[in-house]
Amino acid sequence: MPDTKKPLIGITSRYINMRIGESLGTHKLCLNNDYIDSITEAGGIPLILPIVLNETAIQAYASVVDGLLLTGGEDITPQLYGEEPSTKLTATAPDRDYFELGLIKAVLAQKKPILGICRGLQIINVSLGGTLHQDIASEFANTCVLHRQQSLEHVGCHSVKLSEGSILQRIFDVDSLITNSFHHQSIKTLGSGLTPTAQTSDGIIEGVEMPQEKFIIGVQWHPECMLKSDPNTIKLFKSFIQAASKEEF
Ligand code: MN
Repeated sequence: MPDTKKPLIGITSRYINMRIGESLGTHKLCLNNDYIDSITEAGGIPLILPIVLNETAIQAYASVVDGLLLTGGEDITPQLYGEEPSTKLTATAPDRDYFELGLIKAVLAQKKPILGICRGLQIINVSLGGTLHQDIASEFANTCVLHRQQSLEHVGCHSVKLSEGSILQRIFDVDSLITNSFHHQSIKTLGSGLTPTAQTSDGIIEGVEMPQEKFIIGVQWHPECMLKSDPNTIKLFKSFIQAASKEEF
């Protein structure tokens, strides 16, 4: 018999354009398998969500999942937060933006947990009316720490201070973490209802949450890549799965 207590976690995917081989020129979906492993290891059932623009499908996904994991990827279309593109903007995927904005709205309305990772944190912020720095390194050239590391994905890069009393601090039970960092954008102004819960020493927001909700959390780093290198990392995913569970573990 299947274990029906395990929550179903919808995981967003991204586009990839094949530039070599037999699939040359085709438009495919892809997802880093570390996201799948993180959800599975934490006790959830992963379900990859394709990018669709049909409102009925978006509502159906929101109804069927017990929690939503928003993954990393492209820059968010700046017009969605009222800005023209800076010369440092990298590739965008407007269809993905519209899909995820609809999905976040639908999942929030159903009071289900959301975990946003990297771009996931940024799209949560934009969905709530927040804005982004389009390129940290050019906007804060002399003051920022390294946020686009060259090291392998599981290697820690900078320290992140967790806010006292935040859900994030309760989950990790420490005051600061060493995290990896693979972003060139970050939150500029906060979306409505969001509180910053993690910051680097240069003031960049690395974590947010909605204090009045059970589990709406975004992190700017990639915890799914650090499962093996930092045993504390799984705590974030376990806490997410627990919040998404219909019954207490
Ligand atoms: Mn960073």
